Amino acid sequence: MRIDARGVPAGSPPTNLAQMSEILDAVRAGASGGALAGMTMPTTTRAAFIRRDEQNMFDGMASRDKDPRRSLHVGEVPLPELAPDEVFIAVMASSINFNTVWTSIFEPLPTFGFLDRLGKESYWGRRHALDHHIVGSDAAGVILRAGSAVRSWKIGDEVTVHCNYVDDQDPTSHDDSMLANNQRIWGFETNFGGLADISVVKANQLMPKPTHLTWEEAAVNALCNSTAYRMLVSRNGAPVTQGDKVLIWGASGGIGSFAVQHVLNSGGTPIGVVSSANKVETLRELGCEYVIDRREKNYQFWKDEHTQDESEWRRLGKDIRALVGDDPDIVFEHPGRSTMGASVFVAKRGGTIVTCAATSGYMIEYDNRHLWMKLKTIKGSHFSNYREAWSANQAIIDGKVVPPLSAVFPLEQVGEATYEVHHNRHEGKIGVLCAAPAEGLGVANTELRARVGENRLSIFRRHDKE
Ligand code: NAP
Repeated sequence: MRIDARGVPAGSPPTNLAQMSEILDAVRAGASGGALAGMTMPTTTRAAFIRRDEQNMFDGMASRDKDPRRSLHVGEVPLPELAPDEVFIAVMASSINFNTVWTSIFEPLPTFGFLDRLGKESYWGRRHALDHHIVGSDAAGVILRAGSAVRSWKIGDEVTVHCNYVDDQDPTSHDDSMLANNQRIWGFETNFGGLADISVVKANQLMPKPTHLTWEEAAVNALCNSTAYRMLVSRNGAPVTQGDKVLIWGASGGIGSFAVQHVLNSGGTPIGVVSSANKVETLRELGCEYVIDRREKNYQFWKDEHTQDESEWRRLGKDIRALVGDDPDIVFEHPGRSTMGASVFVAKRGGTIVTCAATSGYMIEYDNRHLWMKLKTIKGSHFSNYREAWSANQAIIDGKVVPPLSAVFPLEQVGEATYEVHHNRHEGKIGVLCAAPAEGLGVANTELRARVGENRLSIFRRHDKE
Protein backbone atom coordinates (compact mmCIF):
# COMPACT_ATOMS: atom_id res chain seq x y z
CA MET A 1 0.00 0.00 0.00
CA ARG A 2 1.25 3.47 -0.88
CA ILE A 3 1.01 6.10 1.84
CA ASP A 4 0.82 9.68 0.65
CA ALA A 5 2.26 12.82 2.20
CA ARG A 6 -0.65 13.10 4.64
CA GLY A 7 0.18 9.66 6.06
CA VAL A 8 -3.01 8.42 4.38
CA PRO A 9 -3.36 5.40 2.05
CA ALA A 10 -2.96 6.78 -1.49
CA GLY A 11 -6.26 7.54 -3.23
CA SER A 12 -8.05 8.45 0.01
CA PRO A 13 -10.58 11.29 -0.16
CA PRO A 14 -9.45 14.73 0.96
CA THR A 15 -8.83 14.81 4.69
CA ASN A 16 -11.15 16.82 6.83
CA LEU A 17 -9.48 16.96 10.15
CA ALA A 18 -11.41 20.12 10.94
CA GLN A 19 -14.78 18.35 10.71
CA MET A 20 -13.44 15.38 12.60
CA SER A 21 -12.22 17.50 15.44
CA GLU A 22 -15.44 19.58 15.43
CA ILE A 23 -17.79 16.62 15.81
CA LEU A 24 -15.54 14.85 18.33
CA ASP A 25 -15.24 18.05 20.35
CA ALA A 26 -19.03 18.26 20.37
CA VAL A 27 -19.28 14.66 21.63
CA ARG A 28 -16.71 15.42 24.32
CA ALA A 29 -18.76 18.44 25.38
CA GLY A 30 -21.89 16.25 25.69
CA ALA A 31 -23.74 17.67 22.67
CA SER A 32 -27.30 16.41 22.11
CA GLY A 33 -28.17 13.94 19.35
CA GLY A 34 -29.91 16.77 17.51
CA ALA A 35 -26.80 18.92 17.61
CA LEU A 36 -24.59 16.05 16.42
CA ALA A 37 -27.04 15.31 13.59
CA GLY A 38 -26.66 18.87 12.35
CA MET A 39 -22.88 18.71 12.11
CA THR A 40 -20.82 17.69 9.10
CA MET A 41 -19.66 14.11 9.24
CA PRO A 42 -15.94 13.75 8.46
CA THR A 43 -14.83 11.44 5.67
CA THR A 44 -11.67 10.26 7.44
CA THR A 45 -10.70 9.14 10.90
CA ARG A 46 -7.62 8.48 12.98
CA ALA A 47 -7.27 4.72 13.40
CA ALA A 48 -4.89 1.88 14.24
CA PHE A 49 -4.23 -0.37 11.27
CA ILE A 50 -1.93 -2.95 9.75
CA ARG A 51 -0.84 -2.83 6.10
CA ARG A 52 -1.22 -5.49 3.43
CA ASP A 53 2.21 -4.72 1.99
CA GLU A 54 3.75 -5.57 5.37
CA GLN A 55 1.98 -8.88 5.95
CA ASN A 56 5.18 -10.85 5.34
CA MET A 57 7.41 -8.60 7.45
CA PHE A 58 7.85 -11.21 10.22
CA ASP A 59 8.34 -14.26 8.00
CA GLY A 60 10.76 -16.75 9.52
CA MET A 61 10.68 -15.14 12.98
CA ALA A 62 9.57 -16.88 16.17
CA SER A 63 6.16 -15.71 17.44
CA ARG A 64 7.52 -13.98 20.48
CA ASP A 65 9.94 -11.90 18.38
CA LYS A 66 7.19 -10.56 16.11
CA ASP A 67 6.72 -7.04 17.43
CA PRO A 68 3.28 -5.35 17.21
CA ARG A 69 5.02 -1.99 17.69
CA ARG A 70 6.41 -2.41 14.17
CA SER A 71 3.28 -3.62 12.42
CA LEU A 72 0.57 -1.46 14.02
CA HIS A 73 0.33 2.05 12.59
CA VAL A 74 -1.79 4.98 13.73
CA GLY A 75 -2.83 7.42 11.04
CA GLU A 76 -5.68 8.98 9.16
CA VAL A 77 -7.75 6.62 7.00
CA PRO A 78 -10.92 7.06 4.95
CA LEU A 79 -14.35 6.25 6.36
CA PRO A 80 -16.61 4.14 4.14
CA GLU A 81 -20.16 4.78 3.02
CA LEU A 82 -22.56 3.75 5.80
CA ALA A 83 -24.80 0.70 5.10
CA PRO A 84 -28.48 0.95 6.07
CA ASP A 85 -28.08 -1.36 9.10
CA GLU A 86 -24.95 0.34 10.44
CA VAL A 87 -23.98 3.26 12.64
CA PHE A 88 -20.92 5.45 12.88
CA ILE A 89 -19.79 5.79 16.47
CA ALA A 90 -17.34 8.18 18.06
CA VAL A 91 -15.16 5.68 19.91
CA MET A 92 -14.31 7.23 23.25
CA ALA A 93 -12.29 4.18 24.31
CA SER A 94 -11.44 0.71 23.09
CA SER A 95 -9.35 -2.17 24.38
CA ILE A 96 -6.64 -4.61 23.40
CA ASN A 97 -7.81 -8.14 22.83
CA PHE A 98 -5.65 -11.10 22.02
CA ASN A 99 -7.07 -11.09 18.49
CA THR A 100 -5.27 -7.78 17.90
CA VAL A 101 -2.08 -9.57 18.94
CA TRP A 102 -2.83 -12.26 16.34
CA THR A 103 -3.61 -9.66 13.65
CA SER A 104 -0.50 -7.62 14.39
CA ILE A 105 1.84 -10.61 14.18
CA PHE A 106 -0.01 -12.04 11.16
CA GLU A 107 -0.67 -15.35 12.93
CA PRO A 108 -1.96 -17.92 12.35
CA LEU A 109 -2.82 -16.19 9.04
CA PRO A 110 -2.74 -12.59 7.82
CA THR A 111 -6.26 -11.18 8.34
CA PHE A 112 -6.37 -9.70 4.82
CA GLY A 113 -7.67 -13.11 3.65
CA PHE A 114 -10.75 -12.60 5.88
CA LEU A 115 -11.30 -9.11 4.45
CA ASP A 116 -10.97 -10.33 0.88
CA ARG A 117 -13.54 -13.09 1.48
CA LEU A 118 -15.97 -10.56 2.98
CA GLY A 119 -15.22 -8.32 0.03
CA LYS A 120 -16.64 -10.92 -2.36
CA GLU A 121 -19.98 -11.21 -0.56
CA SER A 122 -21.83 -8.06 -1.49
CA TYR A 123 -21.68 -4.38 -2.41
CA TRP A 124 -21.33 -3.53 1.29
CA GLY A 125 -18.81 -6.30 1.88
CA ARG A 126 -16.55 -4.84 -0.82
CA ARG A 127 -15.82 -1.84 1.42
CA HIS A 128 -13.82 -4.11 3.75
CA ALA A 129 -11.31 -5.51 1.25
CA LEU A 130 -8.73 -2.76 1.58
CA ASP A 131 -4.96 -2.63 1.76
CA HIS A 132 -5.15 -1.58 5.39
CA HIS A 133 -7.01 -3.32 8.20
CA ILE A 134 -8.39 -1.17 11.04
CA VAL A 135 -8.24 -3.44 14.08
CA GLY A 136 -9.96 -3.59 17.44
CA SER A 137 -12.95 -5.59 18.70
CA ASP A 138 -14.22 -3.53 21.64
CA ALA A 139 -15.57 0.00 21.93
CA ALA A 140 -17.54 2.37 24.09
CA GLY A 141 -18.76 5.56 22.48
CA VAL A 142 -21.51 7.74 21.09
CA ILE A 143 -23.59 7.20 17.96
CA LEU A 144 -22.83 9.88 15.34
CA ARG A 145 -24.94 8.62 12.44
CA ALA A 146 -27.49 5.82 12.02
CA GLY A 147 -28.27 4.10 8.70
CA SER A 148 -31.80 4.20 7.30
CA ALA A 149 -32.69 0.69 8.58
CA VAL A 150 -31.58 1.28 12.17
CA ARG A 151 -34.61 1.19 14.46
CA SER A 152 -33.60 0.84 18.11
CA TRP A 153 -30.81 3.38 18.38
CA LYS A 154 -30.39 7.04 17.60
CA ILE A 155 -27.73 9.66 17.22
CA GLY A 156 -26.31 10.65 20.60
CA ASP A 157 -26.92 7.28 22.33
CA GLU A 158 -24.05 6.12 24.54
CA VAL A 159 -23.20 2.53 23.70
CA THR A 160 -20.80 -0.34 24.06
CA VAL A 161 -20.18 -2.67 21.16
CA HIS A 162 -19.96 -6.46 21.04
CA CYS A 163 -17.95 -7.98 18.23
CA ASN A 164 -20.29 -10.60 16.74
CA TYR A 165 -20.74 -9.58 13.10
CA VAL A 166 -23.72 -11.55 11.86
CA ASP A 167 -25.42 -11.99 8.54
CA ASP A 168 -29.12 -12.05 9.40
CA GLN A 169 -29.89 -13.59 5.98
CA ASP A 170 -28.29 -16.89 7.06
CA PRO A 171 -31.14 -19.07 8.43
CA THR A 172 -28.90 -20.61 11.10
CA SER A 173 -28.23 -17.23 12.63
CA HIS A 174 -31.86 -17.15 13.75
CA ASP A 175 -31.22 -20.15 16.00
CA ASP A 176 -27.80 -19.23 17.38
CA SER A 177 -25.92 -16.57 15.45
CA MET A 178 -22.57 -18.10 16.41
CA LEU A 179 -23.52 -21.14 14.29
CA ALA A 180 -24.01 -19.15 11.09
CA ASN A 181 -21.49 -20.06 8.40
CA ASN A 182 -20.37 -16.52 7.77
CA GLN A 183 -20.24 -15.37 11.39
CA ARG A 184 -17.33 -12.99 11.84
CA ILE A 185 -15.53 -11.08 14.57
CA TRP A 186 -15.68 -7.32 14.02
CA GLY A 187 -12.23 -5.68 13.85
CA PHE A 188 -10.57 -9.06 13.27
CA GLU A 189 -12.42 -10.64 10.35
CA THR A 190 -13.94 -7.29 9.27
CA ASN A 191 -12.45 -3.88 8.70
CA PHE A 192 -13.29 -0.60 10.53
CA GLY A 193 -12.65 -1.98 14.05
CA GLY A 194 -12.81 -0.19 17.37
CA LEU A 195 -9.24 1.13 17.72
CA ALA A 196 -10.13 4.40 16.01
CA ASP A 197 -11.79 7.74 16.72
CA ILE A 198 -14.72 6.80 14.50
CA SER A 199 -15.82 3.25 13.80
CA VAL A 200 -18.45 1.45 11.74
CA VAL A 201 -20.69 -0.93 13.65
CA LYS A 202 -23.81 -2.93 12.80
CA ALA A 203 -26.87 -1.91 14.81
CA ASN A 204 -27.13 -5.46 16.16
CA GLN A 205 -23.73 -5.08 17.82
CA LEU A 206 -24.91 -2.22 20.03
CA MET A 207 -25.60 -2.43 23.76
CA PRO A 208 -26.23 0.30 26.32
CA LYS A 209 -23.15 1.70 28.01
CA PRO A 210 -23.16 0.98 31.77
CA THR A 211 -23.83 4.44 33.17
CA HIS A 212 -21.67 4.05 36.29
CA LEU A 213 -18.48 3.39 34.34
CA THR A 214 -15.89 5.65 32.75
CA TRP A 215 -15.36 5.33 29.01
CA GLU A 216 -12.25 3.22 29.46
CA GLU A 217 -13.91 0.95 32.03
CA ALA A 218 -16.91 0.48 29.73
CA ALA A 219 -14.72 -0.30 26.72
CA VAL A 220 -12.82 -3.32 28.01
CA ASN A 221 -15.64 -5.75 28.67
CA ALA A 222 -17.77 -6.83 25.75
CA LEU A 223 -15.46 -9.28 24.01
CA CYS A 224 -14.05 -11.12 27.01
CA ASN A 225 -17.11 -10.85 29.25
CA SER A 226 -19.46 -12.23 26.59
CA THR A 227 -17.02 -15.06 25.74
CA ALA A 228 -16.76 -16.14 29.38
CA TYR A 229 -20.54 -15.78 29.80
CA ARG A 230 -21.28 -18.17 26.92
CA MET A 231 -18.70 -20.66 28.21
CA LEU A 232 -19.87 -20.71 31.83
CA VAL A 233 -23.40 -19.31 32.09
CA SER A 234 -25.22 -19.92 28.80
CA ARG A 235 -26.76 -23.29 27.97
CA ASN A 236 -24.61 -23.14 24.82
CA GLY A 237 -21.50 -23.63 26.97
CA ALA A 238 -20.95 -25.54 30.20
CA PRO A 239 -23.27 -23.69 32.58
CA VAL A 240 -22.10 -23.58 36.18
CA THR A 241 -24.52 -24.52 38.95
CA GLN A 242 -24.29 -24.09 42.71
CA GLY A 243 -21.58 -26.25 44.20
CA ASP A 244 -19.62 -26.68 40.96
CA LYS A 245 -15.85 -26.44 41.16
CA VAL A 246 -14.36 -24.71 38.12
CA LEU A 247 -10.68 -24.68 37.22
CA ILE A 248 -9.86 -21.42 35.41
CA TRP A 249 -6.57 -21.08 33.54
CA GLY A 250 -5.26 -17.52 33.21
CA ALA A 251 -7.75 -16.45 35.87
CA SER A 252 -6.52 -12.87 36.13
CA GLY A 253 -6.27 -12.43 32.34
CA GLY A 254 -8.87 -11.06 29.93
CA ILE A 255 -11.42 -13.87 29.74
CA GLY A 256 -10.29 -15.48 33.01
CA SER A 257 -11.10 -12.47 35.17
CA PHE A 258 -14.69 -12.49 33.85
CA ALA A 259 -14.87 -16.28 34.21
CA VAL A 260 -14.03 -15.98 37.92
CA GLN A 261 -16.84 -13.45 38.42
CA HIS A 262 -19.42 -15.51 36.51
CA VAL A 263 -18.58 -18.64 38.51
CA LEU A 264 -18.92 -16.76 41.79
CA ASN A 265 -22.22 -15.21 40.67
CA SER A 266 -23.55 -18.68 39.73
CA GLY A 267 -22.76 -20.12 43.16
CA GLY A 268 -19.76 -22.15 42.01
CA THR A 269 -16.23 -22.25 43.38
CA PRO A 270 -13.50 -20.99 41.05
CA ILE A 271 -9.99 -22.36 41.33
CA GLY A 272 -7.87 -19.76 39.56
CA VAL A 273 -4.51 -20.55 38.00
CA VAL A 274 -2.10 -17.63 37.54
CA SER A 275 1.65 -17.05 37.29
CA SER A 276 2.64 -14.57 39.99
CA ALA A 277 2.08 -13.75 43.64
CA ASN A 278 0.66 -10.37 42.64
CA LYS A 279 -1.95 -12.05 40.46
CA VAL A 280 -2.84 -14.37 43.36
CA GLU A 281 -3.59 -11.27 45.43
CA THR A 282 -5.67 -9.71 42.63
CA LEU A 283 -7.85 -12.80 42.48
CA ARG A 284 -8.27 -13.01 46.24
CA GLU A 285 -9.50 -9.43 46.25
CA LEU A 286 -11.93 -10.30 43.47
CA GLY A 287 -13.37 -13.02 45.73
CA CYS A 288 -11.55 -16.07 44.38
CA GLU A 289 -10.43 -17.91 47.50
CA TYR A 290 -8.58 -20.78 45.83
CA VAL A 291 -5.67 -19.81 43.62
CA ILE A 292 -2.74 -21.81 42.26
CA ASP A 293 0.46 -19.99 41.28
CA ARG A 294 1.63 -22.15 38.35
CA ARG A 295 5.06 -20.50 38.32
CA GLU A 296 5.65 -21.31 41.98
CA LYS A 297 4.39 -24.88 41.43
CA ASN A 298 6.54 -25.15 38.31
CA TYR A 299 4.35 -27.74 36.58
CA GLN A 300 6.16 -29.39 33.68
CA PHE A 301 3.31 -30.96 31.73
CA TRP A 302 5.65 -31.48 28.75
CA LYS A 303 8.93 -33.39 29.20
CA ASP A 304 9.95 -32.28 25.73
CA GLU A 305 8.24 -30.94 22.62
CA HIS A 306 6.56 -34.29 21.91
CA THR A 307 6.06 -35.99 25.28
CA GLN A 308 3.75 -35.15 28.14
CA ASP A 309 4.27 -36.17 31.75
CA GLU A 310 1.19 -37.72 33.34
CA SER A 311 2.75 -37.49 36.81
CA GLU A 312 2.66 -33.70 36.45
CA TRP A 313 -1.04 -33.79 35.48
CA ARG A 314 -1.54 -35.91 38.61
CA ARG A 315 0.35 -33.36 40.73
CA LEU A 316 -1.98 -30.58 39.53
CA GLY A 317 -4.98 -32.81 40.27
CA LYS A 318 -3.73 -33.41 43.81
CA ASP A 319 -3.17 -29.69 44.34
CA ILE A 320 -6.76 -28.97 43.26
CA ARG A 321 -8.15 -31.68 45.56
CA ALA A 322 -6.08 -30.33 48.43
CA LEU A 323 -7.63 -26.90 47.90
CA VAL A 324 -11.31 -27.71 47.28
CA GLY A 325 -11.63 -31.38 48.23
CA ASP A 326 -12.76 -32.52 44.79
CA ASP A 327 -11.98 -32.62 41.07
CA PRO A 328 -13.25 -29.74 38.90
CA ASP A 329 -16.69 -30.21 37.36
CA ILE A 330 -15.64 -27.77 34.65
CA VAL A 331 -12.26 -26.70 33.27
CA PHE A 332 -12.14 -23.27 31.59
CA GLU A 333 -9.53 -23.93 28.92
CA HIS A 334 -7.77 -21.56 26.50
CA PRO A 335 -3.95 -21.92 26.75
CA GLY A 336 -4.32 -24.95 24.46
CA ARG A 337 -1.39 -27.21 23.69
CA SER A 338 0.55 -26.57 26.89
CA THR A 339 -2.37 -27.34 29.24
CA MET A 340 -5.03 -29.39 27.42
CA GLY A 341 -3.59 -32.76 28.43
CA ALA A 342 -3.67 -31.69 32.07
CA SER A 343 -7.15 -30.15 31.71
CA VAL A 344 -8.66 -33.36 30.32
CA PHE A 345 -6.93 -35.38 33.06
CA VAL A 346 -7.99 -33.27 36.06
CA ALA A 347 -11.65 -32.76 35.06
CA LYS A 348 -14.06 -34.74 37.21
CA ARG A 349 -15.65 -37.98 35.98
CA GLY A 350 -18.52 -36.75 33.79
CA GLY A 351 -17.05 -33.24 33.79
CA THR A 352 -16.63 -30.76 30.96
CA ILE A 353 -13.61 -29.03 29.49
CA VAL A 354 -14.92 -25.91 27.76
CA THR A 355 -12.43 -24.32 25.38
CA CYS A 356 -12.38 -21.17 23.27
CA ALA A 357 -8.75 -20.83 22.26
CA ALA A 358 -5.25 -22.23 22.05
CA THR A 359 -2.80 -19.45 22.85
CA SER A 360 0.18 -21.80 23.16
CA GLY A 361 -0.65 -23.95 20.12
CA TYR A 362 -3.76 -25.38 18.50
CA MET A 363 -2.52 -28.90 17.67
CA ILE A 364 -3.72 -30.44 20.90
CA GLU A 365 -2.73 -33.73 22.56
CA TYR A 366 -4.51 -35.41 25.43
CA ASP A 367 -4.91 -38.99 26.61
CA ASN A 368 -8.26 -40.04 25.21
CA ARG A 369 -8.60 -42.89 27.75
CA HIS A 370 -9.16 -40.30 30.46
CA LEU A 371 -11.86 -38.71 28.35
CA TRP A 372 -13.93 -41.75 27.36
CA MET A 373 -13.46 -44.00 30.41
CA LYS A 374 -14.50 -41.13 32.68
CA LEU A 375 -17.24 -39.90 30.40
CA LYS A 376 -15.88 -36.38 30.08
CA THR A 377 -16.87 -33.87 27.41
CA ILE A 378 -14.80 -31.32 25.50
CA LYS A 379 -17.01 -28.43 24.49
CA GLY A 380 -15.92 -25.85 21.91
CA SER A 381 -17.09 -22.28 22.35
CA HIS A 382 -16.55 -19.07 20.44
CA PHE A 383 -17.54 -15.53 21.43
CA SER A 384 -21.32 -15.25 22.01
CA ASN A 385 -24.58 -14.46 20.31
CA TYR A 386 -26.28 -11.07 20.77
CA ARG A 387 -28.57 -12.34 23.54
CA GLU A 388 -25.63 -13.73 25.51
CA ALA A 389 -23.58 -10.56 25.00
CA TRP A 390 -26.56 -8.49 26.13
CA SER A 391 -26.97 -10.58 29.32
CA ALA A 392 -23.25 -10.35 30.05
CA ASN A 393 -23.49 -6.56 29.59
CA GLN A 394 -26.52 -6.51 31.90
CA ALA A 395 -24.42 -8.13 34.63
CA ILE A 396 -22.07 -5.15 34.33
CA ILE A 397 -24.94 -2.63 34.23
CA ASP A 398 -26.27 -4.21 37.43
CA GLY A 399 -22.86 -3.89 39.10
CA LYS A 400 -22.55 -7.68 39.49
CA VAL A 401 -19.48 -7.91 37.25
CA VAL A 402 -16.70 -5.33 37.39
CA PRO A 403 -14.39 -4.37 34.53
CA PRO A 404 -10.87 -5.78 35.07
CA LEU A 405 -9.24 -2.61 33.72
CA SER A 406 -5.56 -2.61 34.72
CA ALA A 407 -3.94 0.03 32.50
CA VAL A 408 -4.82 2.67 29.90
CA PHE A 409 -2.82 3.67 26.83
CA PRO A 410 -3.47 6.44 24.30
CA LEU A 411 -4.32 5.30 20.76
CA GLU A 412 -0.88 6.45 19.55
CA GLN A 413 0.67 3.77 21.77
CA VAL A 414 -1.51 0.93 20.53
CA GLY A 415 1.58 -1.04 19.47
CA GLU A 416 3.05 -0.79 22.95
CA ALA A 417 -0.26 -1.84 24.54
CA THR A 418 -0.53 -4.84 22.20
CA TYR A 419 3.08 -5.77 22.95
CA GLU A 420 2.20 -5.92 26.67
CA VAL A 421 -0.61 -8.41 26.00
CA HIS A 422 1.51 -10.41 23.54
CA HIS A 423 4.13 -10.90 26.24
CA ASN A 424 1.70 -11.56 29.11
CA ARG A 425 2.94 -8.47 30.95
CA HIS A 426 -0.56 -7.29 31.85
CA GLU A 427 -3.39 -8.26 34.15
CA GLY A 428 -7.07 -8.20 33.23
CA LYS A 429 -7.67 -5.82 30.36
CA ILE A 430 -5.79 -2.89 28.85
CA GLY A 431 -7.97 0.05 27.81
CA VAL A 432 -7.13 2.43 24.97
CA LEU A 433 -8.26 6.05 24.93
CA CYS A 434 -9.44 7.06 21.47
CA ALA A 435 -11.66 10.16 21.25
CA ALA A 436 -11.89 10.57 25.04
CA PRO A 437 -9.45 13.34 25.96
CA ALA A 438 -8.59 11.92 29.38
CA GLU A 439 -9.30 9.06 31.75
CA GLY A 440 -12.11 9.15 34.30
CA LEU A 441 -14.80 10.68 32.05
CA GLY A 442 -18.24 9.38 31.10
CA VAL A 443 -19.73 8.47 34.49
CA ALA A 444 -23.43 9.42 34.68
CA ASN A 445 -24.72 7.26 37.55
CA THR A 446 -22.55 8.21 40.52
CA GLU A 447 -24.95 6.57 42.98
CA LEU A 448 -24.54 3.11 41.42
CA ARG A 449 -20.80 3.72 41.14
CA ALA A 450 -20.65 4.40 44.86
CA ARG A 451 -22.70 1.25 45.54
CA VAL A 452 -20.36 -0.94 43.47
CA GLY A 453 -17.45 0.84 45.14
CA GLU A 454 -14.32 2.55 43.82
CA ASN A 455 -12.29 -0.06 45.64
CA ARG A 456 -13.86 -2.93 43.73
CA LEU A 457 -13.75 -1.05 40.44
CA SER A 458 -10.02 -0.46 40.83
CA ILE A 459 -8.82 -3.93 41.91
CA PHE A 460 -6.84 -4.60 38.73
CA ARG A 461 -5.45 -1.07 38.44
CA ARG A 462 -4.13 -1.12 41.97
CA HIS A 463 -2.50 -4.52 41.55
CA ASP A 464 -1.07 -3.68 38.12
CA LYS A 465 0.93 -0.87 39.73
CA GLU A 466 2.49 -3.17 42.36
P1 NAP B 1 -4.82 -12.75 28.19
O1 NAP B 1 -5.40 -11.52 28.79
O2 NAP B 1 -3.45 -12.72 27.66
O3 NAP B 1 -4.92 -13.87 29.33
C1 NAP B 1 -4.54 -15.19 29.09
C2 NAP B 1 -3.92 -15.78 30.33
O4 NAP B 1 -3.64 -17.14 30.06
C3 NAP B 1 -2.60 -15.14 30.70
O5 NAP B 1 -2.84 -14.08 31.61
C4 NAP B 1 -1.83 -16.28 31.35
O6 NAP B 1 -2.06 -16.23 32.74
C5 NAP B 1 -2.52 -17.53 30.83
N1 NAP B 1 -1.62 -18.30 29.97
C6 NAP B 1 -1.01 -17.88 28.83
N2 NAP B 1 -0.24 -18.86 28.33
C7 NAP B 1 -0.37 -19.91 29.18
C8 NAP B 1 0.18 -21.21 29.22
N3 NAP B 1 1.03 -21.64 28.28
N4 NAP B 1 -0.17 -22.03 30.25
C9 NAP B 1 -1.01 -21.61 31.21
N5 NAP B 1 -1.56 -20.38 31.22
C10 NAP B 1 -1.25 -19.55 30.21
O7 NAP B 1 -5.72 -13.27 27.01
P2 NAP B 1 -7.32 -13.43 26.98
O8 NAP B 1 -7.93 -12.20 26.46
O9 NAP B 1 -7.77 -13.96 28.28
O10 NAP B 1 -7.43 -14.53 25.85
C11 NAP B 1 -6.93 -15.84 26.10
C12 NAP B 1 -7.05 -16.64 24.81
O11 NAP B 1 -8.42 -16.76 24.47
C13 NAP B 1 -6.38 -15.99 23.60
O12 NAP B 1 -5.80 -17.00 22.79
C14 NAP B 1 -7.53 -15.33 22.85
O13 NAP B 1 -7.27 -15.19 21.48
C15 NAP B 1 -8.63 -16.31 23.15
N6 NAP B 1 -9.98 -15.74 23.09
C16 NAP B 1 -10.89 -16.39 22.33
C17 NAP B 1 -12.17 -15.89 22.28
C18 NAP B 1 -13.18 -16.56 21.43
O14 NAP B 1 -14.26 -16.02 21.24
N7 NAP B 1 -12.93 -17.71 20.88
C19 NAP B 1 -12.51 -14.75 22.98
C20 NAP B 1 -11.55 -14.14 23.79
C21 NAP B 1 -10.27 -14.65 23.84
P3 NAP B 1 -0.93 -16.59 33.84
O15 NAP B 1 0.40 -16.32 33.20
O16 NAP B 1 -1.24 -15.67 34.96
O17 NAP B 1 -1.15 -18.02 34.18
